[in-house]
Amino acid sequence: MKRLLVLAAAATAMFAAHAQAPAFPGSKPISLVVPFAAGGPTDRVARDLAEAMRKAMGGSANFVVENVNGAGGTIGAAKVARATPDGHTLLVHHIGMAAAPALYRKLPYKVLEDFEFLGMINEVPMTIIGKPQLPANNYRDFENYIRANSGKLNIAHAGLGSASHLCGLMWQAAINAKEAMTTIPFGGTAPAMNALVGGQVDMMCDQTTNTTGQIEAGRVKAFAVTTAKPLSNNKLLKDYPTLQEMGLKGFDLTIWHGLYAPRGTPPAVLTQLNNALKIALKDPDFIKKQEGLGAIVVTDKRVEPAAHKAFVSAEINKIKPVVEAAGKFAD
Ligand code: ASP
Repeated sequence: MKRLLVLAAAATAMFAAHAQAPAFPGSKPISLVVPFAAGGPTDRVARDLAEAMRKAMGGSANFVVENVNGAGGTIGAAKVARATPDGHTLLVHHIGMAAAPALYRKLPYKVLEDFEFLGMINEVPMTIIGKPQLPANNYRDFENYIRANSGKLNIAHAGLGSASHLCGLMWQAAINAKEAMTTIPFGGTAPAMNALVGGQVDMMCDQTTNTTGQIEAGRVKAFAVTTAKPLSNNKLLKDYPTLQEMGLKGFDLTIWHGLYAPRGTPPAVLTQLNNALKIALKDPDFIKKQEGLGAIVVTDKRVEPAAHKAFVSAEINKIKPVVEAAGKFAD
């Protein structure tokens, strides 16, 4: 009888614990960690996404964006890898997730092992831009100017392994402009853009989500786009040449963003977040904002966790030889 009573008490306790398990997300906010500075391209995606996911979760979920910048996005990624896996700390990161293993001798996390993959978000082309004071007004003149001023110019980027760094590295390798420029790292391309607009740095390769407004306003000069095909659907950028058209054989760089949770996040929470992400990516406001800045929001298949993980794994293998080939231009 005593034994029965003990069992009954244990069952009641278990039931009570289960009944009390707070529903996700509850009132606790969901933090979207952006591993770059506020106001930049990844921050912009995350802020638009936060709003779309809030709506997708019925408007009650409370999202906050947290900028944890530094070391090309690896500090923010490490923070999320070590966060409590309860769905309340997520990471919005880009191609740097796949570039970091090739660029850092020691990473404080394992990309394919320490995260749950929630799905891809978007793809973003890049633009080669220069400070407004540059004498060049087209890509050819710009490249000639770089060569003529070898060793005197600088190129801004958002830290080792950032998209702008990767792009600058590939571009310098492609034009064989070794030692033409000094690289200047920033905590994101938002502060780098301020320096460019102010004329303190000479050039940068940055995502259209950050450059569109500046190009339109004439605060920076644009010279080329990094995609294999011209951006024919983009009102502003359709007339800029691709780097391939400018003779850089095979140059093709598009940035992508994805959403991650720390490894060990409960499957039910992951499913809920993945469902919300899928709904958010179909939100017409989100699509409109992203497309207005030259980004393309991905569709269903790529929002599957397995497809996302397979893509990042393939990107790690694809970027490694590119970085190795361009690596002699790194500093
Ligand atoms: N995504 C970075 C940022 O938001 C820029 C970069 O990677 O180049 O600042």
